[in-house]
Amino acid sequence: MTGAAQPVYDWDGFGFETRQVHAGEYPDKNHGLRVPPIALSAGYLFEDFDDQVSRFDGSIHWKAEEHPGREDPAGFSPSERAAIYSRQGNPSNWVAEERLASLEGGVVSVAVSSGQAAISAALFALAQQGDHIVSTASIYGGTRILFGRSFKRFGIEFDFVWDADDDAEWERAIRPNTKAIYTETIPNPCNDVTDLRRIAEVAARYNLPLVVDNTVGTPALIRPFEHGANIVVHSATKFLTGHGAAVGGAIVDGGNFDWEAAERAGRSFPLITRSSRPGVASMLDRFGTGAYARATRESVVNDIGPTLSPLHGFLLHQGMETLSLRMERHVASSQRIAAWLEQQPEVESVDYAGLPSHPLHELALRDYGTAPGTSGAPGGQSGIARTGSVFGVTVRGGIAGARACVDGLRVFSRMTGIGDTRSMVLHPLTSTHGTFAPEITERLGITPGLLRLSVGLESADDLIRDLRGALDRVAAVS
Ligand SMILES: *Cc1c(COP(=O)(O)O)cnc(C)c1O
Repeated sequence: MTGAAQPVYDWDGFGFETRQVHAGEYPDKNHGLRVPPIALSAGYLFEDFDDQVSRFDGSIHWKAEEHPGREDPAGFSPSERAAIYSRQGNPSNWVAEERLASLEGGVVSVAVSSGQAAISAALFALAQQGDHIVSTASIYGGTRILFGRSFKRFGIEFDFVWDADDDAEWERAIRPNTKAIYTETIPNPCNDVTDLRRIAEVAARYNLPLVVDNTVGTPALIRPFEHGANIVVHSATKFLTGHGAAVGGAIVDGGNFDWEAAERAGRSFPLITRSSRPGVASMLDRFGTGAYARATRESVVNDIGPTLSPLHGFLLHQGMETLSLRMERHVASSQRIAAWLEQQPEVESVDYAGLPSHPLHELALRDYGTAPGTSGAPGGQSGIARTGSVFGVTVRGGIAGARACVDGLRVFSRMTGIGDTRSMVLHPLTSTHGTFAPEITERLGITPGLLRLSVGLESADDLIRDLRGALDRVAAVS
């Protein structure tokens, strides 16, 4: 044994493609397994009585007592951590968590059982009964339902801002009891990319953490922390696992929100800044930049219990190994298909910000126009706005046209879901947005002829042929 310099734990400074393959991995000391094993165990063996005591005694996720002065969780590899029960942490999920935190450029991540669980836990750590959250209006349908139903039942209210550029609208929406601003990078179905820098400016002005759902963007296309976000949430079900086999979610702490300044300005975040019991310092005092993630894991996820299965944790960290490669192909095919669709006589409009005709194309170029860098070097402006692969197409003939198109597709799968290898089609007005009042769907641009496409990794030629065949049917009814 020569003590060779492998494996590396600290992947800071390496390129995105290197980190998506390696970040979070740890050595298997028994057999030298190169791929982190699926850690299917609900619980963990304590070495002795005192080990049990110390694991429960405030150092539950890693053997902090063996590393005085190393309280920053980012400095620990999974093999150095001491778990007590898989509801709080599991080695397979730790790999996924470290990898995602690295790719997003955050400090700590918490994996949970679904995207909805991630959004819920992220916001429950910030707001409680009597509090209020402001969200942009164009967000995932399931999230809007979650906010309007379950959060409402728990006494947390929402207001929606329609025009992020309108200061007066923010002014009207934000109240003394507001605890967060919520938005998404690339809302679907309309691909109406969000001006994160603008919203981050508002959030900073009011001392509010900005929570961003980056499910559709993914860190391969945009890293919200670079634009001023403080917390990122994901439905890992989509591009991160990438193959449509597992439901999962994650929260990433950017470590860049000043909780004390917010407290001084009258916005209190008790789970983070206050002591939970006598003699125990606040999460902020104990964990510094990782305090929010720690509070979310210990005080929300562990209480409520939306744990990610280690099997799914494995699928998540394995899926991320190819994230940037898949996203490149998703985007290249989407660019081609969106441009082609726009030329077809049966198509009324295409909502893809990557097209020069889209009203948000300039913003899309600013935030999604950088070519992917190799070996960690940032790429230059590419002239192409890489706004993902989930977008809207409106066919002629309203509902009848939409029905003809959907039923005429063979390669596109008729299903709810986005962001995996398969191409998918859905009619939002009668599905994701089916329970909304007409004035809301109208304002969101969810019209009878609108279809949501998620462009997968099949041959783009085949996808175009498939769409052409379906549009022939639209021509016959419109
Ligand atoms: C799918 C999705 C969610 C919900 O995630 P689940 O994993 O299905 O719970 C949240 N946000 C966005 C943008 C999504 O696409």
